[in-house]
Amino acid sequence: MFDTLSDRLTSALQTLSRKGRLSDADIDATAREIRIALLEADVALSVVKDFIARIKERAKGAEVHGALNPAQQVIKIVNEELVTILGGETRRLTFAKNPPTVIMLAGLQGAGKTTLAGKLALWLKKQGHAPLLVACDLQRPNAVTQLQVVGERAGVMTFAPEPGNGVGDPVDVARRAIDEAKRAQHDIVLVDTAGRLGVDEELMKQAADIRDAVSPDETLFVVDAMIGQDAVTTAEAFRDGVGFTGVVLTKLDGDARGGAALSVRQVTGQPILFASNGEKLEDFDLFHPDRMASRILGMGDVLSLIEQAEQHFDQEKAEQTAAKLGSGQLTLEDFLEQMLAVRKMGPIGNLLGMLPGAGQMKDQLAQVDDKQLDKLQAIIRGMTPAERDDPKMINASRRLRIAKGSGVAVRDVNELVNRFFEARKMMAQMAGRFGF
Ligand code: GDP
Repeated sequence: MFDTLSDRLTSALQTLSRKGRLSDADIDATAREIRIALLEADVALSVVKDFIARIKERAKGAEVHGALNPAQQVIKIVNEELVTILGGETRRLTFAKNPPTVIMLAGLQGAGKTTLAGKLALWLKKQGHAPLLVACDLQRPNAVTQLQVVGERAGVMTFAPEPGNGVGDPVDVARRAIDEAKRAQHDIVLVDTAGRLGVDEELMKQAADIRDAVSPDETLFVVDAMIGQDAVTTAEAFRDGVGFTGVVLTKLDGDARGGAALSVRQVTGQPILFASNGEKLEDFDLFHPDRMASRILGMGDVLSLIEQAEQHFDQEKAEQTAAKLGSGQLTLEDFLEQMLAVRKMGPIGNLLGMLPGAGQMKDQLAQVDDKQLDKLQAIIRGMTPAERDDPKMINASRRLRIAKGSGVAVRDVNELVNRFFEARKMMAQMAGRFGF
């Protein structure tokens, strides 16, 4: 996601960093490039205009002219403004004082609501909640079964109308579900509603009726980030027709342009709470505007990476790894451990995409597959502990021995060692520059 945008922004800003002092004309030229990059990424025009105006104003102000390194100041400003349009602070779910907390999902058909219901249920369950899924999409054939399937996969209960009861009344189902949640002590009720292929009045009315019946604590508008500009118009229609308290962006894994993510907050005034980036139940997380911004600017998303690692490592280990990343002391042993944990975490491309500089390495990333990882693992395993700790000691004869021992060519060992040094250096530099 955001690949093209990220490439364009990075190159616009790189041109600046070659200059010592910045004139207003330099800033105008950069602003123009950023503007084109955003428009090409399908960001809404009104959002682009505001964004560019703020960048220009701040960049031409004292902030930059007095600075030692004006280019870095501009990057900082662009980063801060990106964070702002993405929503500023991370917004978390609001829970009801008196459970159950009711969360209603609304959006077009195919937006990913049902999948999201499963993802959110699993996510909440992992945090110690006991969610109840409620099937109020009684329109689409199989929607109820689909919800039951994701519910089973997430290991949570699903409340659905009895089969054979005709089409059923979603408002009635929603009401009964709340009673059931109270009875069975579910602290969260997740209501999946029906979608249509396009916005229509009946759809809005049904969603509004369900809303009135269950008074949700959160109404989440679920939107497919791949629909580009349409995401904004659909969001406006739902805001006016049903109202919502937060947005969930889905299919960010497939979205190369990312304009929806950058527009929807500003246009609707409601924050993005979650981002969904794959078909598996685990491909889902809180939306962090700051992390997303640094990802867009090619600064990587080391925080998310470390957080994901934390779920698989113990806390102490993760902190050590983070510190080592920053100080350039990462060893191949750390790397191997990370790799083993990472492989448990899911699609490798997603994870590598969070690393600084990943945007520029995307062609290589696309080639990373499990077979290659097996090879890397074999090479590192062929090293002695001392070599893993201090890869600098791996000289030519050691490389030969390692290659033989792990059944690969010396060239493969060379490549791994060289890449490791490059990555370590790059991460230490990024850490120094951006202070993580
Ligand atoms: P609903 O009609 O809104 O309930 O949408 P569904 O949950 O049925 O999702 C529609 C399709 O999108 C399904 O094939 C899902 O597997 C797929 N989908 C949902 N979320 C994501 C996502 O984040 N990434 C990808 N690639 N596919 C997704």
